[in-house]
Amino acid sequence: MSNTSSSPIVVRTIGELRETVDTWRRDGEKIALVPTMGALHEGHLSLVDIAHKHAGKVIVTIFINPTQFGPGEDLDAYPRDEAGDRAKLSAQGVDLIFAPERNEIYPPGFATRITVDGLTDCLCGRVRPGHFDGVATIVAKLLNQARADVAIFGEKDFQQLLVITRLSYDLDISTKIIGAPIIREADGLALSSRNVYLSGDERKIAGRFNQVLRDAVEALKQGQSIGAVLGKAQAELKRHGVTRIDYLEIRDAQNLTPYTITLAPDARARIFGAIFIGKTRLIDNMAIA
Ligand code: AMP
Repeated sequence: MSNTSSSPIVVRTIGELRETVDTWRRDGEKIALVPTMGALHEGHLSLVDIAHKHAGKVIVTIFINPTQFGPGEDLDAYPRDEAGDRAKLSAQGVDLIFAPERNEIYPPGFATRITVDGLTDCLCGRVRPGHFDGVATIVAKLLNQARADVAIFGEKDFQQLLVITRLSYDLDISTKIIGAPIIREADGLALSSRNVYLSGDERKIAGRFNQVLRDAVEALKQGQSIGAVLGKAQAELKRHGVTRIDYLEIRDAQNLTPYTITLAPDARARIFGAIFIGKTRLIDNMAIA
């Protein structure tokens, strides 16, 4: 049963979170967790919808995790709107918002870091050193704090979803990790809290990003070579005004092994891209099958 009639409880401490979860457990409730960094949009809310399908009680966490931002990245500028987030989550029938302060999560003396090998060597892991250690550490903590039955993560951050699935298996965390499809604007741009950074002109360029990926997928399906397709896609991105391409690659959807020459007929391949438009970094990915 979802909480449609009342506002979510907002808690700031792990103790209060656990107390509420323990009460729900005693009442036989199933619990779903949706970790976020706030500045919520329809992409986040789609995860909440999925959470409701799996559990009677839904927890959304809002925490801008400093350890996943590198030096010079946008930690200080990252959009914050707790009042707006609260209203959206209330309308969505969320039961509890966990919005801890930084010290609650990383008290003085905090010294542990989780590293997931292999999956983090490439793509965002290569260009954002330490990013996935920060992600793995915070997600392991949140999973351990909430001890939910399921946790929902978006395919928008596909590599992150694989890293979290791996760590929860490796660390014997019993919460089931569920992936959720990417929610997009009408022109294909994946919703992201960072899209608010884009000026009007940059927003137009951003709309081309997914179109270029879709065209690449189509060309691959028609049998064109990976090298030719990626070369053309990069040229298109530049032509549209993309400032920098961090990567544009085709990799296996389970272990991120690269495909550079041809796709195996049963390939579970995805195309992955990360670009800068001005100072704003955008990522996207799509299945090729
Ligand atoms: P963030 O607040 O950016 O850390 O994202 C929190 C969760 O929402 C992550 O699991 C993201 O993958 C997911 N998410 C963000 N944008 C989208 C989107 N456009 N569609 C689906 N899920 C998303």
